[in-house]
Amino acid sequence: MSKLLIEGQKVGIDVDDVLCDFSHRLLKWYNSENGTSHNIDDVIEFNMAKVLGISSDQFKREIDAFYDTRFCRYLPAKDGAVDGINRLIEGGNTLYLITSRWDLAKSYTKDWINERFSYANFEDLVFAPNGKKSAVEYFELDCMIDDALHNVWAIIGGGAAPIIMDQPWNRPHEQRSKKDNLCAKLAERVNGWDDIN
Ligand SMILES: [Mg+2]
Repeated sequence: MSKLLIEGQKVGIDVDDVLCDFSHRLLKWYNSENGTSHNIDDVIEFNMAKVLGISSDQFKREIDAFYDTRFCRYLPAKDGAVDGINRLIEGGNTLYLITSRWDLAKSYTKDWINERFSYANFEDLVFAPNGKKSAVEYFELDCMIDDALHNVWAIIGGGAAPIIMDQPWNRPHEQRSKKDNLCAKLAERVNGWDDIN
């Protein structure tokens, strides 16, 4: 795969599973807490609750609990993210972080970003638990890197080009809706930060 060149653009960047290795760590923690052995490759839908066999409300409570653990506070950056952000900065891009995390995680998220990416000087950090379209529109982003198919739809709706970072839950799949499969194909797909120059 040739590298995706991004220069001189307004770039939106998701936090979970783009900047940090969130879902893998969440699942590992959940397994250790509950004596289960779920595999990340089985998470073919963004809503992990279905894979875990719990309700969405229960899953939200699990995430709230995970936010409060040292596993979450010391989440590793995703492979290549630090160098990738450096390359985007050197390429003259303006970077906006847009996350779906909710209020409970605000201060922890800010601390984590400041610790891992203190040099990055992100233009803004937006918490958008109810959808990313309006932030994409407001900042007039040129493109946005995300891992969720519903966000691909929001990014296109907001007028930007979607770039999707490959994960089991965002690949085309026969069990997905037509809309999600369309989003999986419409977005420019990268395997990880090493594919972005
Ligand atoms: Mg994400």
